[in-house]
Amino acid sequence: MPSNWEQLIHTYAQSTIPAPDLKLITLAQWALESNFGTSKLATEHLNFAGLKFRARINRDQHYAEPVDYLAHDGWDTYCKFASHQDLIGGYWAFINNGAMYDGWDAYAEDPAGYIGHLQRGGYAEDPNYLSKIRSVLPRIRQQVDDLGHAALLQAGALQPRAKFRLAVLIGHNSHAKGAHSDHLMVSEWPYNQRVYRHMAELAPEFEIEPKQFFRHPGKPYEDEIKEAYALVDTWGPDAILELHFNSGGGRGTETLYWGGSAKGEVLARAVQRALLTELGLSNRGIKDRRTGRGSSSLGASAHPTILTEPFFGDSANDCAKMVSVGEDTLARAYLIGARDAMEEF
Ligand SMILES: [Zn+2]
Repeated sequence: MPSNWEQLIHTYAQSTIPAPDLKLITLAQWALESNFGTSKLATEHLNFAGLKFRARINRDQHYAEPVDYLAHDGWDTYCKFASHQDLIGGYWAFINNGAMYDGWDAYAEDPAGYIGHLQRGGYAEDPNYLSKIRSVLPRIRQQVDDLGHAALLQAGALQPRAKFRLAVLIGHNSHAKGAHSDHLMVSEWPYNQRVYRHMAELAPEFEIEPKQFFRHPGKPYEDEIKEAYALVDTWGPDAILELHFNSGGGRGTETLYWGGSAKGEVLARAVQRALLTELGLSNRGIKDRRTGRGSSSLGASAHPTILTEPFFGDSANDCAKMVSVGEDTLARAYLIGARDAMEEF
């Protein structure tokens, strides 16, 4: 004979609810509220969620009766449910019909955000509510699995998300190192490898898996580009950044993308925005390219690709700024922008 709690898991696993990705987290919430179905509210009234009685719960359908109950914070009127189905339907009516929880559905795929939203609406006063719920999740997962409802564990948002794969191709090569900045005393090729090292260090906090790629000299230019991008493509990145810096007498930040690539444009826009915010240089805008400088790189992969020109290596103003903010700030800007774009793809 399955326990009261196990019966609830069975019923919930088979129920249709407004936000399937929130099933596991709400089950964990009820486990916490009812101490895995052993509280008096749960055993006597099937109220696993600790719901106080509000008339709105029965607005569209009858789910609950009011019952007086002495909880840890004194006497109050709570919900009494006749069945596990009524608890489930009642809980979602309680949330859905509660003006203080309006907008919860924006968190339908974001379990942590959902719990935070409930908390802001007054569901729980404990500032550690989410971490307590999370602490029972492993046990819940085990129980759900043991009871044969592994499918419930597949709910997208509760899986650790696969990291975004960000390919970083270092512009130029070991023989032709790109523009040399007298101000920074370095060429593009070594400079951008330093930037990449910071990106690799910072990437985990952005849930990004970066990988550095190089162009190999000794071939005609077009072949060199093609080969480099073919290698990038076999890795299967979500986005590609080819790193440069600019020169030629201007100043400011610009980002190039392949004209006609919608995702390329999203990526260019997001990275340009992050660069402007983090570096504070003047805005030369995003530029679509199908011919000329950088275009064979931009068109080489089917994955969204941009070519970055964050500053002018021959601008005293730009370089002074780059020295003051540091290469790690440039790395961070790339990660912020790429992350924003990959979320939007
Ligand atoms: Zn360059």
